Amino acid sequence: MSFASDRLREEISEIIFLDQHCHAPLRLDGPLDPLTLRAAFTESTDPQVQEQDVTGTTGYRMMIRWLAGLLGADPTESAVLTARSTYDVADYYRLLADDARLGPLFNDFLFQHELAYTSAEWSELTGRPVRELMRIETLAEQLAGEHSSWESFRQAFSQALVSSISTGGCGFKSIAAYRTGLQVQPVDAATASAAFDDYRSELDQSGGERVRLARKPLIDALIWETLEVAAELQLPLQFHVALGDDDVYLPTSNPVLLRAIFREPRYRQVPIVLLHCYPFVREAAYLTSIYPNVYIDLGLTVPLAGSNCAALIAEALGVAPLHKILASSDGHAVPEFQWFAARLWRAALTEVLSTNVERYMMTDREAIEAAAMILHANSERLYPGTK
Ligand SMILES: [Zn+2]
Repeated sequence: MSFASDRLREEISEIIFLDQHCHAPLRLDGPLDPLTLRAAFTESTDPQVQEQDVTGTTGYRMMIRWLAGLLGADPTESAVLTARSTYDVADYYRLLADDARLGPLFNDFLFQHELAYTSAEWSELTGRPVRELMRIETLAEQLAGEHSSWESFRQAFSQALVSSISTGGCGFKSIAAYRTGLQVQPVDAATASAAFDDYRSELDQSGGERVRLARKPLIDALIWETLEVAAELQLPLQFHVALGDDDVYLPTSNPVLLRAIFREPRYRQVPIVLLHCYPFVREAAYLTSIYPNVYIDLGLTVPLAGSNCAALIAEALGVAPLHKILASSDGHAVPEFQWFAARLWRAALTEVLSTNVERYMMTDREAIEAAAMILHANSERLYPGTK
């Protein structure tokens, strides 16, 4: 280890981690079992991958070793789980949050929300402020049944976005990548209305069951509506990009497909935050260098890319302006995911930035400033009222 990396490691370990995209963990009855822990560390829904492949990844192995260090256990999955089971839930959450030096948490709370802690409960467990992000496709699914026309639905949707912010929310999130792809096109009112009517008849036939919204004109129209509200309130819209389960079709979740949004002058003041990005890290970094309102966040890629996280951060850092790189964990299911992501973000940033210092490409001071920008300051600037 070099002097530069020792110095930076110490400084960067003190910087708080504002998690600008994450999900409250699941309520568990009883001790955590190995399969639930493993399943959290893959995007695959295939039981064989969850059971047999995860333990072969560098990220999972590192997580077990680091967690063993924190809990004073042997570095094996079973020893770590045994040590974990001796903790009270609240003490364990606080231990991980403090060790990861978590700052405010931005909760995309409509993901698995029936099974997860509420934002208030999660805030209590971690001792951190939790702000909410509104997942627009799920909101639309919840509201559609109450409206018989596109126009009344559209107005209710916009009002719900506004009130999510007035009740403490801090931004919006789209999972279009999971549903109909990122090639979002302008939609005229007649097309949106026809797509809404089709979705409504699907809903009527379902007998009150929730119906997965996957009609492209309707999702596209809702994204433009959201941009309108986001422009008015000057708040970011996050997009899930690529890396995800087999619902994501990679060719249609490339961020370059968002071009119609990037090129729309009306929304040039709306920060567009590209989340995860793997394997399109280069494309996303490139987009931040071309459009004034595009931001990149490698959460979820960190930690799933394990020993390759530093290389991916270096890839982004070479092209993206420093003030347009954000950090998150995409933590979900178990608190270990967020904890490990925060620790790995700092370790990977230390590696990348100290290499830059050693090569005389950055001063120490610039490196530490860059880490602080990425780990919290950029998000504090982008999301009003979070500092
Ligand atoms: Zn997420």
